Amino acid sequence: MSRVLYDAENQITNGYRQNVHEALDIVKKWYQQDAITAHSDGTVIMAVSNQKHNQGSTGTASYGNFVKIKHSDGYYTLYAHLREVYVKKGDYVKRGQQIGYMGDTGNAYGVHLHFEIRNNYDVKIDPTPYLDRDLPSNDRTLKYQVYDNVKKYWLPNVIVASGEYAGNFGNPIGGIYADKYRMRVHDKNKGYWLPWVENRNDYAGNLGNEIDGVQIEGATYRAHLKNGGWLSWVSKADNTNQGYAGIYGRAIDAIEIK
Ligand SMILES: [Zn+2]
Repeated sequence: MSRVLYDAENQITNGYRQNVHEALDIVKKWYQQDAITAHSDGTVIMAVSNQKHNQGSTGTASYGNFVKIKHSDGYYTLYAHLREVYVKKGDYVKRGQQIGYMGDTGNAYGVHLHFEIRNNYDVKIDPTPYLDRDLPSNDRTLKYQVYDNVKKYWLPNVIVASGEYAGNFGNPIGGIYADKYRMRVHDKNKGYWLPWVENRNDYAGNLGNEIDGVQIEGATYRAHLKNGGWLSWVSKADNTNQGYAGIYGRAIDAIEIK
């Protein structure tokens, strides 16, 4: 089943292979021809309609007549080798709307639809999982998580500003991972600040050692003390009085970012 043919029943004549054929070639069942429908709502950003069959053509010309649609969340779909194109650049199309008819324009070995999905960087991804499903959503939600030194594992991610915190009261944390943020922690056992880390490339902390200070740039955050309570919210990350969350010598067992 596919969303991109008018008659949803289809067969794949050429699958996705990275760096070889980063698309799906699709025909209606029994190799029949069919109208092409928009996979999802979006805006037509390219519509080429004056191309002929051109075996051996390369680059954009190899697509023949094609339509490219930009969807919410930044994904693109592209429909190539069309015999006819029913839309023009700038049109807003709805899911299931006919945008053209299957053909063999451009570098096509026969009548079929060449269907691509591209991510928000315009990089082709495997369309197979999404042929009859919504496009992947670009998850822009920032998350963070902490390592529980007692349970000895990373606790589940917590969404920034969700009103939830990361940690188990009573169990000191030994590390913090956070999306986007640049951060560092003060190692209670070693008694000094560990190097800055950022963008989830690394975690802040020495797993197993306790943390007694946290700095997170560009965030408002607070720390919870083991056998204590929540400290004040901090919205700086510098060496001034309120430029970090924590009290030296007191283990932190939870943090919250808002
Ligand atoms: Zn193809």
